[in-house]
Amino acid sequence: MTLEELVSYAKRYGFVYPGSEIYGGLANSWDLGPLGALLSDNIKKAWFKKFVDEKVNCVRLDSPIILNSRVWEASGHLSSFNDPKVDCLECHNRERADKLVEKASNGTIDADGMSLAEIDQYIKENHVKCPVCGKENWTNARTFSLMFKTSQGVVEDSSSAVYLRPETAQGIYIAFKNVYRTARAKVPFGIGQCGKAFRNEITPGDFLFRVREFEQLEMEFFCKPGTEEFYFEDYKKYCVEFLKSLGIKEENLKLYDHPKEKLAFYSKGTTDILFKYPWGYDELWGIASRTDYDLNKHQEYSKEDLTYLDPETNQKYIPYVVEPSVGVGRLFMAFLLNSYENEQLESGDTREVLHIHPYLAPYKVAVLPLIKKLHHDKAMEVFSEVSKEFNAVFDETQQIGKRYRRQDAIGTPFCVTIDDDTMNTGIVTVRNRDTMLQDKVEIKELRNYLRSKLEF
Ligand code: ATP
Repeated sequence: MTLEELVSYAKRYGFVYPGSEIYGGLANSWDLGPLGALLSDNIKKAWFKKFVDEKVNCVRLDSPIILNSRVWEASGHLSSFNDPKVDCLECHNRERADKLVEKASNGTIDADGMSLAEIDQYIKENHVKCPVCGKENWTNARTFSLMFKTSQGVVEDSSSAVYLRPETAQGIYIAFKNVYRTARAKVPFGIGQCGKAFRNEITPGDFLFRVREFEQLEMEFFCKPGTEEFYFEDYKKYCVEFLKSLGIKEENLKLYDHPKEKLAFYSKGTTDILFKYPWGYDELWGIASRTDYDLNKHQEYSKEDLTYLDPETNQKYIPYVVEPSVGVGRLFMAFLLNSYENEQLESGDTREVLHIHPYLAPYKVAVLPLIKKLHHDKAMEVFSEVSKEFNAVFDETQQIGKRYRRQDAIGTPFCVTIDDDTMNTGIVTVRNRDTMLQDKVEIKELRNYLRSKLEF
């Protein structure tokens, strides 16, 4: 599936629309439509289930988007959450300078962490041209802050300046003490959070891949210094397993270890899980081993004691942190790209089908009366029954074959048809999206039947 095909598919079926469309749009902002909102919700549910709820030592947090601005001073975001940019003096196109270098080198250079002078030198020496106008007349590279600034309260002065969070992680660090005390948590333990983050990206694009407003799923896992390597390796495997258990094909994934010499001084390692997007393998999920850097910084700036007292050894220390962090939008794209197929049928026809994991499918079941006039009421009874437990859709327009095709295309794993047989015997036909085979199931058994097939 190309990127254009994905965007058009997502709009056609109501997964994603351009944001503010009736006003001419707002670049790189997107609405999640009825199906997109469900898919996104299911992705988050799956993450919480596997990263928090099924873990004996992990809990949730929901912290605000706007935090005390001192948080961003302490974390270093105000001084250094920047990307380098260059502007084309001919056509005024703006590029993220590190990405420009990476593209110009065909991916052979990792420009993350290159100094501005090194970037300028590379661009000059290699005669890097503007991808828009083809000329070679760049400004020097300059840093550009990705922080979204606004003000809080009635007076607009420097004391009212606040920022939209560029990541959810800092909200977790600053609540660390409250959480570990109230949850009576013992190291090692994790705090997971899902929420919006905002980055004033220089070059947003590629659909949901790089946007200025996005959702993150972040886990901060606090462990005893010396054990971080174990948890770092463990989370790498766990994240890959999570993706595979939701149907992501092995060949669509790759791991990229950031070279040690490029890591920040406090970092013990960063590995990205890359997914094969239409333009090539690119970052889906980042897993970082961050030592005690963040908690230390917050202890220093807040003057609060953020040490942990080990109840067994009576030792006091600041825990180390392993952080797997992923964007919901990048997962959303990965699941659609990975599952979409234009399937060639034996009959010679083709069908559009989304082989998405049933747990993620927007609708779990479609309820379809074979003939509207005869079967509507019974079908409504079935819909009322199944919708108590599963996201269900009711459709009685068009002939049955076309209705099946529509459900295949949006990934509904089961279609339940109500016909004359149902009226006489209480038995419905359940059609499987992937095999197209049909089972006969009694209405009173239907919820049990579906539940057993939808487990994750
Ligand atoms: P990139 O190098 O692509 O800019 P990053 O390394 O800065 O990403 P992190 O700060 O590690 O990203 O953020 C964690 C995760 O959040 C990323 O792996 C990605 O899934 C998601 N993410 C980051 N920036 C964006 C964005 N602008 N739009 C959508 N998702 C994003």
